[in-house]
Amino acid sequence: FLSDKSAKIFVAGHRGLVGSAIVRKLRHLGFTNLVLRSHLELDLTRQNDVESFFATERPQFVILAAAKVGGIHANNTYPADFISINLQIQTNVIDSSYRHGVSKLLFLGSSCIYPKFAPQPIPEDALLTGPLEPTNEWYAVAKIAGIKMCQAYRIQYNWDAISGMPTNLYGPYDNFHPENSHVLPALMRRFHEAKVKGAKEVVVWGSGSPLREFLHVDDLADAVVFLMESYSGLGHMNVGSGKEVTIKELAELVKDVVGFEGKLVWDTSKPDGTPRKLMDSSKLATLGWTPKISLRDGLVDTYKWYLENVEQ
Ligand code: GDP
Repeated sequence: FLSDKSAKIFVAGHRGLVGSAIVRKLRHLGFTNLVLRSHLELDLTRQNDVESFFATERPQFVILAAAKVGGIHANNTYPADFISINLQIQTNVIDSSYRHGVSKLLFLGSSCIYPKFAPQPIPEDALLTGPLEPTNEWYAVAKIAGIKMCQAYRIQYNWDAISGMPTNLYGPYDNFHPENSHVLPALMRRFHEAKVKGAKEVVVWGSGSPLREFLHVDDLADAVVFLMESYSGLGHMNVGSGKEVTIKELAELVKDVVGFEGKLVWDTSKPDGTPRKLMDSSKLATLGWTPKISLRDGLVDTYKWYLENVEQ
């Protein structure tokens, strides 16, 4: 993968948190032939459009970072969108990639594919061993289907499709929507707006006790390149930081980075979601990849981006 910087690479979802980080990384490495399409230019849920895009462009590599994503509230509110849009996008892109001669594809999922009460840290083989967390099972079922589709195409056609399952991600180009985003950008925005307004309190959802693992998206982009270069196996690969914090610790850290001086109020009518979600990323570590960005440094970087981009 790294030996030919002129190879044609389609990064699906290049405007999102993950896709944009992968594009930055590939450009930084000197790749010159990236194929990118905005949602308006190519709707990945339309099979015929995806088909003709691949027939015309014939990319050599595909990184599938396009998905309908959202936090706990969005998943609960729009279950039909989460299952159907994700199944359509990934089925269209994976199948067209195979049929139009793509030599390697990487599919990205999420840690919510694992059972709610999986052993912690969660190893790859915990997949499909128990019921899912109900608040995001629609999204999770779609992502599990994507992993299985990559495996099936490898088994039946000997085609090089791999899957990476990142833990909770954050960074530039995240969705900072107040209700529909994930906890980290939601809190960053809420603390920022409270600081600007001089508010005394900020409401945080749930009990504060759930544990979550966070990975800066630039670390994920680095892992994606590593996997494209060094991994061609049947099993999906966890990509995490190995470090977990409680939501309360996260809230205190974001508060500190943003510089909000008031207090936190916990709204326990909001769901906690799964109690703990730490991935076992030792398989990837054994292959030789480790993350580099600490949570504090990553938050400082993300807040800088927020101030320069979102606030306007
Ligand atoms: P999850 O990791 O799939 O559960 O997704 P989220 O990032 O949406 O939520 C993680 C945890 O943060 C849950 O326990 C939420 O209740 C908690 N949380 C606290 N405040 C917020 C908030 O403002 N937005 C979101 N999305 N979650 C919050």
